[in-house]
Amino acid sequence: MTEHTFSVVAPLTKLKSSQEDVLPAVKRPVPLPHELRFLMPTTAGLQPTKTTLTVPGQPVPRPSRVPSIPPPQLPGSDQDISQWNCSQQQRIWMKTELELMGLWPGFIPVRKLMKMVSLWRFPPQPELIDSISDLPSPKYFQLHPFFIWKPENDLMARLRNNDTLPCIEGCAQAQIVSAGVGRPRVIVGITGQYYLFSSRLCCKVCRKRWYADNAVWLEKLPKRFTNLLPAILTYKKAICKSVMDELRRTGNSPTDMAKQIMEMMHLKYERAHLAFLLTCQNVMDGEAGKYDLRTITQFIRQETKPAAFGEYGDSGGWNGISVSAHYLTDCLLHEYQHQEGAITKLLQSTFGQAFRSDHTRKVARKVTFSSGTMSSYAVTG
Ligand SMILES: [Zn+2]
Repeated sequence: MTEHTFSVVAPLTKLKSSQEDVLPAVKRPVPLPHELRFLMPTTAGLQPTKTTLTVPGQPVPRPSRVPSIPPPQLPGSDQDISQWNCSQQQRIWMKTELELMGLWPGFIPVRKLMKMVSLWRFPPQPELIDSISDLPSPKYFQLHPFFIWKPENDLMARLRNNDTLPCIEGCAQAQIVSAGVGRPRVIVGITGQYYLFSSRLCCKVCRKRWYADNAVWLEKLPKRFTNLLPAILTYKKAICKSVMDELRRTGNSPTDMAKQIMEMMHLKYERAHLAFLLTCQNVMDGEAGKYDLRTITQFIRQETKPAAFGEYGDSGGWNGISVSAHYLTDCLLHEYQHQEGAITKLLQSTFGQAFRSDHTRKVARKVTFSSGTMSSYAVTG
């Protein structure tokens, strides 16, 4: 455990040279430095599609933008990040993160991951990025975290523990391999939105392909895998476990909960906007000589006004999503159906007759866990 376990972020050039020392024979494409990525022209015809529900037998899409499974992709188009259902800066940042972690084809990890790895990736702190002569770009302030979900990858080898992953079709002797880098799916959380980045898988026996967040496949996975997931995933819906916990804990109606979530998500957006404006102000104050020495950047800089931050739902900017009470109700019902057996068992066999009957309410039981925490389950009938 002597080598590079605790290496910290260093300038890209330095990292590259130290990498070449270790692996001189490996040829890999040199990524464009992160700072320059935004200079790249965006792909023509790149219009991020609006997130709408695709419910079979329901012709009219709902007005609110709710998370759903992105449209199916053609084989081979998987690495074309313009297909990802998120903003362009989110795509670029996620791709860069995956490259740095060696999770992108042709890239090796910049840092030795060892055991010090988190599946959560958080955006850089834009205020700390040195923007030498220009006003800051709002793009750095418009990123959401993402969670990497790649059960087939070496990243999760410890979890697989020599076991083989199941085939979605239930093939015997299944051999599950990666069939592309995957794609992100937006998730509503209690403190904002994030993306679940799931790999694309293929069974070598039946040639079937699917995404690792497929609800049918997740059902077949051992608990030790699915337990890691921060979200509850169904065929059509995806919701953070934190939202379900909060619904259960507070007993609030889905309407109240939807309002609470939307308020929080808009608050996050406003805060990001404010952070952007303050950073702009900081640059301009420096140039105005407020911090003793006048800088010369004002003579170099082209723009005199900060770029517009954009609206909440701006698909090229913050790309905020909406969640409806209807959506939450569906998720709650699914989750209850899913856990009904376990809850009934818990109420009946573990605590059995010890419950005092309360006829004034339908049934809402407080359940004490071994940790001493209380949790209430609303059980009808
Ligand atoms: Zn198969």
